[in-house]
Amino acid sequence: MALTVVGSIAFDSVRTPFGERDRMLGGSAVHFALAASFFTEVRVVGPVGDDFGDDHLAVLSERAIDTDDIEHVPGKTFFWRGHYDHDMNIAHTDDTELNVFADFEPKLSPASCEAQMLFLGNIQPELQRRVRAQSSASFAALDSMNLWIDTARDSLVAAIAEVDCLLLNDAELRMLTGRPNLSQAARATMEMGPSVVVAKRGEYGAVLFTAEATFAIPGLPLEDVRDPTGAGDSFAGGFLGYLDGVRTGGEHDERALRRAMAYGSVLASFNVEDFGTERVQRLTESELAERYDEFRRLTTFEEAPVSSRP
Ligand code: AMP
Repeated sequence: MALTVVGSIAFDSVRTPFGERDRMLGGSAVHFALAASFFTEVRVVGPVGDDFGDDHLAVLSERAIDTDDIEHVPGKTFFWRGHYDHDMNIAHTDDTELNVFADFEPKLSPASCEAQMLFLGNIQPELQRRVRAQSSASFAALDSMNLWIDTARDSLVAAIAEVDCLLLNDAELRMLTGRPNLSQAARATMEMGPSVVVAKRGEYGAVLFTAEATFAIPGLPLEDVRDPTGAGDSFAGGFLGYLDGVRTGGEHDERALRRAMAYGSVLASFNVEDFGTERVQRLTESELAERYDEFRRLTTFEEAPVSSRP
């Protein structure tokens, strides 16, 4: 049972209507790893620069995340600056500096190659492909974003063909396929290769598509949302971390996928309650269990007691 993740390891400067933070720890791999670490052994692959200190690494190792494949290279750590206005479903990117990611050549250790599950977090699609080529994972998943659909579409489509599961925002699925209807867009991406497609829908939750089933889960209606940065990666971490944790070596059955969707939503709901990684860092097992139950209560209803009129 182990899950390898490659993705950005970043410093993020973020402004929301509820405050701002400068150069806090972030990145797709970091948000993902923290969420997944509640269910399984996680190994992070990626480069960091001279400005990345032991205190940043400690955030990961405190959750027993393996950091042996985090490479320190001369230069600056990946940097992202963004802001959200009142619609916190829309992230506005103000600056992206790839820095040490620009020339990164991933070299997975034997342990990272052998992990049975792989998550290719949001980063250049060519880099995702080079990692996929080295890994012997039996289940690989991929996330991406509008920047790569715009600037590296062919590489991204090739990367998608090499994975079993694609997680994308609903708008990005539409953008990738040119289909305005979400179900059609999901089916069109399944034709590119993946057998599982998850459409993330921000505060509205997420929808799962497989050849046999469609399943939708809402977001938790929270009164206090401070910073949605990393919610998509936390969702992916809860989803794949849970699948890896319960895995018996075979196919994922629909019931496990549904529970994984719930854990994805649970982790995303915690992520948005505070800036960056702050909330998930202090999350406890009992809070996790309590919120899973809250989701069950939110989404369960009984058969109708009376039949409808003709
Ligand atoms: P999310 O809110 O889950 O979509 O992801 C936000 C995280 O993605 C932030 O922590 C950023 O550091 C990271 N990020 C933003 N833009 C990029 C990019 N172009 N490539 C890789 N990671 C990015």
